[in-house]
Amino acid sequence: MDRDTAQLQANLDAIRARIGAACRSAGRDPGEVRLLPVTKTVGADRLRIAHALGLRQFGENKVQEALGKSEALADLPDLRWVLIGHLQTNKARYAARFADEFQALDSLRVAQALDTQLQSRGRAIDVLVQVNTSGEDTKFGLAPDEVPAFVRQLPAFSSLRVRGLMTLALFSDDAARVRPCFVRLRELRDRLRQEAPDGIAMDDLSMGMSGDFELAIAEGATTVRVGTALFGHRPTPDSAYWPDPSGAAGATPD
Ligand SMILES: *Cc1c(COP(=O)(O)O)cnc(C)c1O
Repeated sequence: MDRDTAQLQANLDAIRARIGAACRSAGRDPGEVRLLPVTKTVGADRLRIAHALGLRQFGENKVQEALGKSEALADLPDLRWVLIGHLQTNKARYAARFADEFQALDSLRVAQALDTQLQSRGRAIDVLVQVNTSGEDTKFGLAPDEVPAFVRQLPAFSSLRVRGLMTLALFSDDAARVRPCFVRLRELRDRLRQEAPDGIAMDDLSMGMSGDFELAIAEGATTVRVGTALFGHRPTPDSAYWPDPSGAAGATPD
């Protein structure tokens, strides 16, 4: 095993151990928690190594970056591409080409654009609705109280298989401030389970990242999105990936 492979395997083992420990203390089955490796800024060569180690889905923020990698890795079997970043309607046609799942749905315009593109390709994808549980206006996602009415519109888009909810918690080392974000998402999911229309599933709760996934698992996460802990620190600041929706801050939206 070369050094890159050994390092990645060691990181993967450590993350799985952390997931296992978090599940044990929450009385949960580790089989209920999906590890979604987040691969933004990670090159196709390292993704080949990740695939060789058994990883079969990659989470990416930017459509064009992900599309390029999906083409470079088209020969790898059983690979799922998961878009976890904000999508602009004019990028929907690229997403429809290769994405298997989209976790950041937060507008009917995007739902419409994506559904139209998917239908013309005869494809369907899994979708999570992104919720802004921190109340920060720098985060994408619907306000929790907007979500029930939004979800009621989604059966109109037959290429979108709605599976649940996604959130980015507050970025803070203070668990007392982070945990309420996760609690809010779980409570919303539980409520929507009662009232969601036919064909809309509310099982998946995508929450928790490298720094806070134990807390998210304690609050019911079924998907944790892990980048840094797996692949190391990213060369690009996260502001390049989380543009300010108000347009005030520097980053260019994808
Ligand atoms: C980058 C990113 C992650 C992973 O963050 P890490 O702290 O590196 O684990 C998770 N979710 C989203 C939406 C991201 O953009």
